[in-house]
Amino acid sequence: MVDLKADIVVIGAGFSGSLLSLLLKRIGRSCVLIDRGTHPRFAIGESSTPMANLILEDLARRYDLPRIAPLASYGTWKRVHPEIVCGLKRGFSYFHHTLGQDFRPRSDHANELLVAASAGADDADTHWLRSDFDQFLADEAVGEGVPYFDLTTLESPVPHGLGWELRGHRQGEPLTVVADLIVDASGDGGFVARHLGIGPHPDGLQTRSRALFSHFTNVKRWQDLYVARGGSVADHPYPCDDAALHHVFDGGWMWILPFDNGVTSAGFSLDPDQFPLDKSVSPQAEWDSILSRLPAVAEQFADAIPIVPWRQTGRMQRRLARSTGPNWVMLPNTATFLDPLHSTGNALTLVGIERLVEMLEGSWRRPDWINQMQRYDDLLQQETGFLDLIVSGSFKGFREFERMIALSMFYFSAATWSEAERREERAVRGSAFLSADHPDLKGALIQSVSEIGDPRVPTSEFVARIRQAIGPFNRVGLCEPTKLNLYGV
Ligand SMILES: Cc1cc2nc3c(=O)[nH]c(=O)nc-3n(C[C@H](O)[C@H](O)[C@H](O)COP(=O)(O)OP(=O)(O)OC[C@H]3O[C@@H](n4cnc5c(N)ncnc54)[C@H](O)[C@@H]3O)c2cc1C
Repeated sequence: MVDLKADIVVIGAGFSGSLLSLLLKRIGRSCVLIDRGTHPRFAIGESSTPMANLILEDLARRYDLPRIAPLASYGTWKRVHPEIVCGLKRGFSYFHHTLGQDFRPRSDHANELLVAASAGADDADTHWLRSDFDQFLADEAVGEGVPYFDLTTLESPVPHGLGWELRGHRQGEPLTVVADLIVDASGDGGFVARHLGIGPHPDGLQTRSRALFSHFTNVKRWQDLYVARGGSVADHPYPCDDAALHHVFDGGWMWILPFDNGVTSAGFSLDPDQFPLDKSVSPQAEWDSILSRLPAVAEQFADAIPIVPWRQTGRMQRRLARSTGPNWVMLPNTATFLDPLHSTGNALTLVGIERLVEMLEGSWRRPDWINQMQRYDDLLQQETGFLDLIVSGSFKGFREFERMIALSMFYFSAATWSEAERREERAVRGSAFLSADHPDLKGALIQSVSEIGDPRVPTSEFVARIRQAIGPFNRVGLCEPTKLNLYGV
């Protein structure tokens, strides 16, 4: 019989729950970490970004986590933790395909977009092999003395004083934890939402997508196929495969994330109206069927072998009505999820972790706690709304790539601007991810999304309006026609 008392119980030992547990120890809060599964286990959500790594680095420095700090860039990761598998991510690569036709590179690069995120490999971002990465963080938490219970099934939390009593069992052994605060890091497990009856947010989400994915061996380098088709990589700011590689087409997109151990994560995110889920079709058959309409991508995967069971999801999006209560809080990926486009999930989760730790340091058990919790929820809802516009607008724009590229500049300008603010130590504490609460930026984004599929708005006008709207955030010459969609650092 396990009987524990702690300040905080963290549900879910994915990367976010384990990292948070470590940070809670550092700020002197006792915590218990619980997961229904066990490590190592497959998890999706692998591609990091400059903002994700800046936050990871800041957290490691501020809270003295020298073993975590090297994971914030590719070079230090490979030198210090070669045992944890990762992949090299120099930037974001997008290639536009017309269904049923072979990909033809163009000398003006109009059917591609490359946005560099690092000057070289050493300071680059990474793809995290989550089975390794998450296990490492859980082990670190245990090493710091966090009581961790895997393979544990919990019942509904019961109010206990100002907090909660959680009962459950671990492989037959009963377990009870009494804690003042529940942090829900269970992702789509939705622990708090299920047990406390938190329903969907009334505003809903415009994004609608479902996914089909696995891990593969023997995936060819896209650059080789691109060059074989007459493409010139001389102008590319980095090798296009050392990236989050996206193949974009009308009705969806595909991610390709190569790890250094020869394994590649790949999957489709699909508009269910254009690619309805047919349960009578096996995932492999659906995969083959989509590839048959993308001949160049089919060639890239001609010898590929899936090495983990296929994952075929229903609609991926979730947005809960609330992410906080007086004695519970959900990490961002538990309260909300949109789509992997532009790899925003892990960065947003790290934003939430940083915010929550600061709140727990400064305001917990103080009179302004409730206001802080309300502010956490307000910001997360604004961030979700902003990202929903970018992703849903992009799906509408996949058919007309020039418009999709222009719309993505809302993301890239806000991201590069906020990364620079943080690097130069000008970032305002508690400000919204991607300046999602900036009224002018959001207003322009709303207008652009409403116009993206409107043939009455000429593309030149559409792009010019976005160039003007992102002006105050555009430090890197985005939307500059002479750059031919290829942006260096
Ligand atoms: C298809 C897809 C692709 C993605 N790609 C990217 C990407 O490239 N880049 C990016 O930044 N983000 C991506 N994301 C988002 C990313 O997955 C999340 O940001 C990330 O997984 C968050 O990690 P986490 O630790 O919060 O949650 P998770 O990784 O979901 O971990 C949740 C943990 O909670 C446990 N759990 C669940 N229910 C319970 C319960 N009832 N009791 C106890 N434990 C429980 C689970 O076992 C699990 O260990 C993607 C998401 C999807 C769906």
